[in-house]
Amino acid sequence: MKLPADVGAALALAHASGLERLDAQLLLAAALQQSRAWLLGHDDEPLSKHLAERIAAQIAQRAAGMPLAYIVGEKEFHGLLLKVTPDTLVPRPDTETLVDWALEILQPLPGEPAVVDLGTGSGAIALAIKHRHPCASVQAVELSAAALAVAQDNARRLGLSVRFHQGDWWQPLTGQRFDLIVSNPPYIAGTDPHLPALRFEPINALTPGGDGMKALLTLIDGAPDHLRPGGWLLLEHGYDQAEAVAAALRLRGFTEPTRRLDLGGQTRVSGARWLD
Ligand code: GLN
Repeated sequence: MKLPADVGAALALAHASGLERLDAQLLLAAALQQSRAWLLGHDDEPLSKHLAERIAAQIAQRAAGMPLAYIVGEKEFHGLLLKVTPDTLVPRPDTETLVDWALEILQPLPGEPAVVDLGTGSGAIALAIKHRHPCASVQAVELSAAALAVAQDNARRLGLSVRFHQGDWWQPLTGQRFDLIVSNPPYIAGTDPHLPALRFEPINALTPGGDGMKALLTLIDGAPDHLRPGGWLLLEHGYDQAEAVAAALRLRGFTEPTRRLDLGGQTRVSGARWLD
């Protein structure tokens, strides 16, 4: 393959490879450590052989379906720039619905409300909550050591104090109770036809196998032992899982569940309180 000699040629290669214009600009801007605006006036800026090779390889990766976030190594979420790697799910704008709801719940609470994010991945939810509600005492649990290292690195870089635990869902939280428990667990069904398109992301973060309900049910089942009276459980789930999640919450003795829609208008988050 002929390597792009300058910025204009790299943009042309990206276009010819089928990349969207915005993706091409973001990829190039990251590789050159320049802004997107800079690119516009620098079509004839020459590329070193080393940089041209790297950019051509990244264009090929994006064309093969790798998320841009993995290629550039970062993703914006709820106003925070997070480092992400293929060990972590790419934070989705839809998950900001859950964070916004969490912040509404925390806003009127006095003192230092206790919050935990289960299956934190890159730390996105826990860090966004701590960022916007600094008086909350935030903990986060993650099974994957590699993902946890990314989350801890994000917390360090952003100067946000979150206590991280490695472990399986409730296991590191024995004896602890919270005012708010949040999670975006793996919830895609094992046979869902969308899974192949998500093949670059960690499969364990996307699906628990089966009908996709296993992790959600583990969370609903264990939450009452970890909630203070009046505490909330907020769960992200699939567009078609709200009924099953509501039924499980009712059965476990939670208050009548409520729901929020994501940016695409799909029912994406359910929440209920533990009043006992
Ligand atoms: N919302 C993501 C998707 O459908 C999945 C996230 C998850 O399984 N927790 O791409």
